[in-house]
Amino acid sequence: MKVMKFGGAVLRDAATALKVVEVIVSHQAERVVVVVSALNGVTDSLHQVLKEVEENEKPIQSFIAQLKARHEEMASGTISDEKVLTKTVDELKNKMAKLERVLYGIAYTEEITDRTRDYVVSFGERLSAPILAASLRAKGVSSIAFDADEIGLITDGAFGRATPLLNEVERNLQKTIKPQIEKGTTPVITGYFGCDGDGRAVTFGRGGSDYSAAIIAYALKAEVLEVWKDVPGFMSADPKVIEGAREIPLMSYQEAAELAYFGAKVLHPRIVEPSMMRGIPIRVKNLFSPEEEGTLIQEVEEKSEWVVRSVAMRPGLSLVNLSGPAMAYTPGLASRVFTALSSAGVNVYTMAASMASFAVVVDAQDVKGALDSLREMKEGGIQDISTTDSLSLICIVGKGLRETRGIAAKAFTAVAKAGVNVELISDGGSDVALTFVIKSPDSARAMKALHKEFIG
Ligand code: ASP
Ligand code: MG
Repeated sequence: MKVMKFGGAVLRDAATALKVVEVIVSHQAERVVVVVSALNGVTDSLHQVLKEVEENEKPIQSFIAQLKARHEEMASGTISDEKVLTKTVDELKNKMAKLERVLYGIAYTEEITDRTRDYVVSFGERLSAPILAASLRAKGVSSIAFDADEIGLITDGAFGRATPLLNEVERNLQKTIKPQIEKGTTPVITGYFGCDGDGRAVTFGRGGSDYSAAIIAYALKAEVLEVWKDVPGFMSADPKVIEGAREIPLMSYQEAAELAYFGAKVLHPRIVEPSMMRGIPIRVKNLFSPEEEGTLIQEVEEKSEWVVRSVAMRPGLSLVNLSGPAMAYTPGLASRVFTALSSAGVNVYTMAASMASFAVVVDAQDVKGALDSLREMKEGGIQDISTTDSLSLICIVGKGLRETRGIAAKAFTAVAKAGVNVELISDGGSDVALTFVIKSPDSARAMKALHKEFIG
């Protein structure tokens, strides 16, 4: 049995969605479970409308009308059977009526809670899954759409960044989904969210459908997880920045996780966790050239030919530097800093410490929150807090990178020769990644120099 995941990028319009249908139909000989994201751009629009309706009900009507038009157009373009189409359109209308009521509720109470936010943004998937299942039925494939909160995809209930309770999910899906597969039905399950213990929708964060697919593959003990995208899989660098970027046929779970976390927007970084626990290989495939192998991610023993497999970059970061001569002598300071930052919802990408200073790298948009939370700490040891903006994190990824002599020296020499200054180095945290921070305007130059040095 295999899990096939399709993202918003391949659900742009009826033409691309029909390609998705074609791929699923052509794999019917194997048993298939499908996990699907919202149609392209729909999740963005749900997040956007939430911002608008908090104090104003006006945008609701036109928003719902647009959403309806978009999905009805997709449905009529992909469901080639009139009866199936009519039923699906009715189902979509019912779902949109629910969404509309929730949005008015928010406008009237002038309040959005984490819970209503997650519920509202889950509608993209609730609307796309029935369309895909119906287009499969119209092609003669037995298929049923399932909302993840109805099949027991239980999480810890952390809205916007949930973690699944894998044992419970496994127990539930063995009851709700497994019998469907055994009957020869292809379930189409919504990505992006699960539920808490009370059955309320909880999302996994943006791009979370990949993670959903891995959780479902884990629970159903799938042989393989295929992630279908509009790009060829992982590459040795972003082809928009590096002309000679190559496709990567094989990589380890750890390499994929680091790359996904630090820049390459190919997969959600957490897709690796459940997959690794069961040794389920992940294959990234390109919908627009399905005959190509794509990237296979699994347990890998050997290093790649060049050790370094890929160079990635994450722009839009800032450095927050804390300093004070007594910092090294203030026990527990680092832990209090991290607690303050995490309670303000600030994600730390990398850090470095010296005797009298402590620097963390965060998203530029989190700087204000970081400063507020650190000032609130009123920590005696910290005398000064300064920030540096417009930074990018560069990440070199490769298995065996740590135990191979000379990689860091080569990397920093290449960068220096390109006239780029390194602002912060953080090494040793990972066996497969070397990360450092430079000024954003230098990043293309640095990436080119590194790619040339290691990959050619
Ligand atoms: N639709 C959600 C998002 O756009 C989840 C996903 O696409 O993976 O973030
Ligand atoms: Mg998406």
